[in-house]
Amino acid sequence: MAEAKRAFITGVTGQDGSYMAQQLLEKGYEVHGLVRRSSSFNRGRIDHLHHDEHIPGQNLHLHYGDVTDAARMHQLVTELRPHEVYNLAAQSHVRVSFDEPLYTAEATGVSTLNILEAIRSVDTSIRFYQASTSEMFGASPPPQNEDTPFYPRSPYGAAKVYSYWITKNYREAYDMFAVNGQLFNHESPRRGETFVTRKITLAVANIVKGNQTELWMGNLDSIRDWGYAPEYTDGMWRMLQADEPDDFVLATGSAYTIKDFLELSFAHAGLDWHDYVKFDPKFLRPTEVDELIGDASKAKNKLGWEAKVLPPELAKIMVDADIARLDGAKEGQF
Ligand code: NAP
Ligand code: GDP
Repeated sequence: MAEAKRAFITGVTGQDGSYMAQQLLEKGYEVHGLVRRSSSFNRGRIDHLHHDEHIPGQNLHLHYGDVTDAARMHQLVTELRPHEVYNLAAQSHVRVSFDEPLYTAEATGVSTLNILEAIRSVDTSIRFYQASTSEMFGASPPPQNEDTPFYPRSPYGAAKVYSYWITKNYREAYDMFAVNGQLFNHESPRRGETFVTRKITLAVANIVKGNQTELWMGNLDSIRDWGYAPEYTDGMWRMLQADEPDDFVLATGSAYTIKDFLELSFAHAGLDWHDYVKFDPKFLRPTEVDELIGDASKAKNKLGWEAKVLPPELAKIMVDADIARLDGAKEGQF
């Protein structure tokens, strides 16, 4: 019998890491995830993988560590000898990156080098995926594709630009299969609660249940290209199965404002968002990314990848899940 493929996922407790782990387990991979020690439970998104009878959870192994710790990254890559590494760990919140710019530079930027260096010294045939982002395009006008110049507008975007280039450099310098997925915003019921889509859908659920009467928000005019996270983790996997290493944009190509997402989410619950949403300047950013609309034709042509779920359906999926959660549904259902 052929040896099972081994994958190492950093950021396995996050939105994308949890879908990635689930999809790889379902494909028969042995999955190793990096987890941070925390004083409170931080495995809500992956706990169900150990208990779901349809998922081979016995093949999921968790290891304590932090991507800022180069020695630990070297040790884990040496011990695990993965075939594929998905580097999804990051301080991933744009607004927070203005409060913690140096930590963001370390966790979201320089840490990528810790993993690339480990791979370079252990085994250059290990395939490496870097979670790059549309935030690197920032102020460059849409539609944005793989040739669009970078113009980051936050410490987060700037840190991700470093990670993008060091990944590309290791590919060219050491002939490594190291690729960047330049992913536009992707959301799901597992999205962090302080990102705008989830903040909205959770508020709708709480308003429906009578737990909340107001929703405080920042700039409602920016335009985003929101897709559905499980489709994007499938795209990441496809990038690592390709014949040649290359960088790809993943996006839906659709454009919706925050107001549009409010409308979609509140209307799904029979509510008018104008009755609940209030402005709080603390949610504004010192510099904003006004318009992100991606062109994913390269991924369609070369990987056969295409986004299917668009914001009208996405908002319904997320509102329904948040209402179901308040009704006591188990986390693993989403
Ligand atoms: P997320 O939900 O915020 O998850 C981030 C993960 O990184 C969590 O597991 C977190 O662990 C872990 N992490 C943070 N700092 C770490 C550190 N120093 N050492 C080890 N682990 C650390 O993010 P996501 O939405 O899944 O996104 C996954 C990746 O794609 C991120 O790199 C993000 O920047 C990037 N990205 C996301 C989007 C999007 O729209 N979602 C778009 C483009 C790119 P804890 O659970 O312990 O906090
Ligand atoms: P980002 O695109 O990675 O920054 O993802 P976010 O979901 O954090 O923000 C998307 C957009 O929503 C940005 O233009 C924010 O300025 C805007 N926004 C407006 N109000 C809020 C809010 O209360 N929270 C967040 N996170 N974003 C908000």
